[in-house]
Amino acid sequence: MKEDIKSLTLPQLSETFREMGQPAYRAKQVYEWLHGKRALSFAGMSNLPKELRGALEERFSIAALSCLRRQVSGLDGTEKLLLGLPDGQSVEAVLMRYKYGNTVCISTQVGCRMGCRFCASTLGGLVRGLTPGEMIDEVYAMERFCGEKVGGVVLMGIGEPLDNYENVLRFLTILSSAEGMNLSLRHVSLSTCGLVPEIDRLAGERLGLTLSVSLHAPDDETRKAIMPIARRYPLPELMAACRRYFERTGRRVSYEYALIAGKNDSPMQAKKLCALLAGQNCHVNLIPVNEVAERDCRRGSREAIERFQHLLVRGGLNATIRRELGSDISAACGQLRRETAAEEGM
Ligand code: SAH
Repeated sequence: MKEDIKSLTLPQLSETFREMGQPAYRAKQVYEWLHGKRALSFAGMSNLPKELRGALEERFSIAALSCLRRQVSGLDGTEKLLLGLPDGQSVEAVLMRYKYGNTVCISTQVGCRMGCRFCASTLGGLVRGLTPGEMIDEVYAMERFCGEKVGGVVLMGIGEPLDNYENVLRFLTILSSAEGMNLSLRHVSLSTCGLVPEIDRLAGERLGLTLSVSLHAPDDETRKAIMPIARRYPLPELMAACRRYFERTGRRVSYEYALIAGKNDSPMQAKKLCALLAGQNCHVNLIPVNEVAERDCRRGSREAIERFQHLLVRGGLNATIRRELGSDISAACGQLRRETAAEEGM
């Protein structure tokens, strides 16, 4: 298959054009067509010589994701798209409407190999990582199909972003480039289940994005039972990496904690969480777990969730309960892809 030209950063495209014997300004023109004007074909790039358009056509593709399914929440207008990739695979992206603008949640891999016990995305394992071009087109596709401007991006869909590091980094470079969407990485959050070496690597890039860490447990025993990655990177190592991230970037880390009834939501566990995060400048995002058909994870009562939050706040933590969007459209990551695959007998 031809390479998706949208996967190239501007410096990479310029280098390619140099090799093709083309002047540097041509690379910039093409980049602006792709990421500024969102051109979907080379033929329409009217300020390029015909031969160059032909040469590009021969060498590259412009991957445009198709919309296989679209669900709109009747409750809050959240939209979820099942997007078709050029090789027939599919991923999900979600548009969330907030008072201050639209944020899109994108997938970074087809499937996932992290194995979290409560998550639908990992059930079929990892198929492959997404290319930078596919990730950027998730954002563009959202604007194309929903007709809305996107002002923020969260990497919290299917997949583990730090398990597809190089491609995610190129995607972020393209997303924030002045000649493209020019989206400030201050409006981007990246969520990870806790790959310690990659967290350190990311800190070194000094991108200014928000790091979200999926904690989901206050101790290793509880965490290992629901997140296999905890066996590779135990909590003391993960916490040290998070502290280093804050020291190096000045950006406070956000912790996600999905409350699962009877597994990680006891008052004792709330106290342990306070002790674990004591003194850290951070934020805890409590998520009532989304129940996944294949998973034995139940959601507790609203009172239990509020009690847990109250204990964290009393213990000195900055903790909020995530407002749920799209709860009527199975917006929990990985659910739509699985449902569709099941219906189609894939
Ligand atoms: N792999 C990354 C990002 C994708 S998942 C990560 O692990 O962070 C985005 C968030 O949704 C993570 O915090 C993940 O743990 C959480 N999540 C997955 N399945 C869930 C479910 N059924 N209910 C609530 N949160 C879930």
